[in-house]
Amino acid sequence: MASPAPNQMMTCPYNKAHQVEHYRMQVHLQKCRKQHQGCKKVTCPFDTTHVVNDAELDFHMGVCSKRIKLDTQLYVLDNDYRPVLDVVAPTPVVPCDEDWECDSTTSYIPDPAKKGAHIIHKIKGATPSERRKARMQGIQTYRPKE
Ligand SMILES: [Zn+2]
Ligand SMILES: [Zn+2]
Repeated sequence: MASPAPNQMMTCPYNKAHQVEHYRMQVHLQKCRKQHQGCKKVTCPFDTTHVVNDAELDFHMGVCSKRIKLDTQLYVLDNDYRPVLDVVAPTPVVPCDEDWECDSTTSYIPDPAKKGAHIIHKIKGATPSERRKARMQGIQTYRPKE
């Protein structure tokens, strides 16, 4: 999830009439929150020590420091990861008659229950380069012969 631009206008989760720039929202929420005490509290999915008002959870998840750390860790791991999972991503140009691809499919069994976010990130991270590769292959294959 890309962060909104600092000066992008956001709607205050407590009051739709409050339009606040993104970079000022945190300050605004501190004030607005005081008028909404007794709100339902929820725990941040990234860090159980973060307890925020239910209304603020969406905003908090966008700025949560733990989320940013998690993203960075996944990104670093992604660099030495062989993107075998890309076979399940939509790359229609790549045929599945290449041995390494079929081997990868059968020898690697992901466990989505344990590593759901991890795997999703891998697919997202691996797809662009694989897609580019597939596109290059497609260009070579489909280029009209002279
Ligand atoms: Zn407000
Ligand atoms: Zn958090």
